[in-house]
Amino acid sequence: GKWQIQGRFEYVKHFEQVDILLPNTWVVVRIDGRGFTKLCAKYNFEKPNDRRALDLMNAAAKAVVTELPDITIAYGVSDEYSFVFHKTCNLFERRSSKIVSTIVSTFTAYYIFLWPTYFQDQPLSLPLPSFDGRAVCYPSVQNLRDYMSWRQVDCHINNLYNTTFWSLVQLGGMDAKEAENLLKGTLAADKNEILFSKFQINYNNEPEILKKGSVIYRDYELVEPDSHDVAKEADELAEPVPQSKTQHESDRKRRTKARVLVDHLDIIKDDFWQRRPWLLS
Ligand code: ATP
Ligand code: ATP
Ligand code: MG
Ligand code: MG
Ligand code: MG
Ligand code: MG
Ligand code: MG
Repeated sequence: GKWQIQGRFEYVKHFEQVDILLPNTWVVVRIDGRGFTKLCAKYNFEKPNDRRALDLMNAAAKAVVTELPDITIAYGVSDEYSFVFHKTCNLFERRSSKIVSTIVSTFTAYYIFLWPTYFQDQPLSLPLPSFDGRAVCYPSVQNLRDYMSWRQVDCHINNLYNTTFWSLVQLGGMDAKEAENLLKGTLAADKNEILFSKFQINYNNEPEILKKGSVIYRDYELVEPDSHDVAKEADELAEPVPQSKTQHESDRKRRTKARVLVDHLDIIKDDFWQRRPWLLS
């Protein structure tokens, strides 16, 4: 009958591609807003940095981290967020499309759900905000830390440029072309100098959220910076020891209960990681 015929169709399942992420590697899922340049204009985002939009990104990302205890840490800037899965994570048997699509849809759902909290006077209209996503595997702690550093350096470079560019336009009365030409070939020190001499802005005094981006992680007890001897520091850059299954499960429970924090810290220097040894262990 009908159910025997099903057997004739089942072969289509074999067309599915295997997309298992390399075992025992740190998985980073980075999402990015689609066409946010247009979205900024549509909802009159303040330039260069609209706080409501940043707070909304952080609120959606915090919800994602809270719902997925396999995420160790997340880092966000502009319209993007990177979510790091622990190397021992076995969510969806590490199938890339399952992991990426879950992150993208959970994030997007919260972004749209929380929108009215941050943009009270501007209801969403079509086309709705959407995000793309990808997963990348990093085999070593050093590779993962370099990835995180790369994103935070990008945040710094873009924010210094955008702060100077928009000061020239908004406070200096230049048009976009003039400001762009003035900044062509300038170094960080030149931009700092332009901000200070022309507009009395000390870039160091800009809000941390803009200079450093946002980092989200689970909060346990901080380790005192001076409790670290050299041997211990060397140990932390080394690879974590493989865990037993029960240990892994109890860690997962502990992560589910921990408070999820949003902060704006330097994640390039060793200090951040040394004081929070649970993040990479
Ligand atoms: P794509 O779909 O290729 O990602 P895009 O228009 O989203 O295109 P991005 O390179 O992702 O391009 O850049 C995002 C844009 O949104 C940048 O111009 C950035 O300045 C702007 N943007 C993001 N967040 C904010 C914010 N909080 N305030 C002001 N502008 C923002
Ligand atoms: P997973 O996260 O692995 O997808 P799941 O619980 O979503 O787990 P699925 O295999 O996707 O499992 O199955 C979805 C379930 O929801 C099925 O039991 C299906 O019958 C039920 N379901 C889906 N849509 C409807 C609907 N409109 N009315 C009633 N039941 C539905
Ligand atoms: Mg993109
Ligand atoms: Mg974008
Ligand atoms: Mg972007
Ligand atoms: Mg389902
Ligand atoms: Mg289903």
